[in-house]
Amino acid sequence: MLLTVNELSVSFGGVHALDLSHFELNDKELRVIIGPNGAGKSTFLDILCGKTKPDSGQVLYNDIPVLGKTEVEIANLGIGRKFQKPSVFPSLTVFDNMLLALKMKKSIFASLFFKPTEEIDVRIRQVAVKVGLDKELKKIAGELSHGQKQWLEIAIVVLQDPKLMLIDEPAAGMSDEETEKTGELLLELSKHHGIIVIEHDMKFVEQIAKDLVTVLVRGKLLVEGSFSQVRNDQRVIDSYLGR
Ligand code: ADP
Ligand code: MG
Repeated sequence: MLLTVNELSVSFGGVHALDLSHFELNDKELRVIIGPNGAGKSTFLDILCGKTKPDSGQVLYNDIPVLGKTEVEIANLGIGRKFQKPSVFPSLTVFDNMLLALKMKKSIFASLFFKPTEEIDVRIRQVAVKVGLDKELKKIAGELSHGQKQWLEIAIVVLQDPKLMLIDEPAAGMSDEETEKTGELLLELSKHHGIIVIEHDMKFVEQIAKDLVTVLVRGKLLVEGSFSQVRNDQRVIDSYLGR
């Protein structure tokens, strides 16, 4: 098991943001988490990447306890996070944003002497091809389309070579065409990485949900199953889809 979560709970000022009894993810599984606003989806990813400290619970990543570790320690273990809001450097080129992502992996000392070698150049180009940005490497990131910026964010996570990728609402604000390309990208990435994706757009969820879908409502796991099981579950329709 790549990830095992037990009795994970966190409150913010009396509000139970997350109360997750059990969650498991296999290696190279692509899990989609859906649920209404405020269900605790982002909070769950925040805990997994060390940004938020839970009140109680257990998270095992490859049998290693993760809670209590810093965000940097968790990233170094191989858990990579793409946040909801874009965070690329708009005045740098696509290539330099990707180069910076590799530099950040080093210590401050090592990063001072970091020179882009042939090998690094090849690696950046490979990832750029994967996310469909190979023709945009010299472009200033601020001039990319919204979809391309999201793909650059995903590229930055991929460059860290994580075993587990946490991706929050990748298709938000994308055109239909960009959304579909993003789905294809996630399916491709799931051949090599375990992935947890949070998503709202049910058409997109259907495209990428080759494995299980988890439904969170008010911090609790309501249903877990295949896309069609979840789509037709009366409790899911009542509390989320039917509104
Ligand atoms: P989702 O991503 O499913 O929309 P969130 O995980 O963002 O939901 O939020 C779950 C609940 O926790 C919400 O009620 C939200 O207001 C609250 N919450 C999330 N983060 C914080 C925080 N840092 N401080 C206080 N409340 C928070
Ligand atoms: Mg959220």
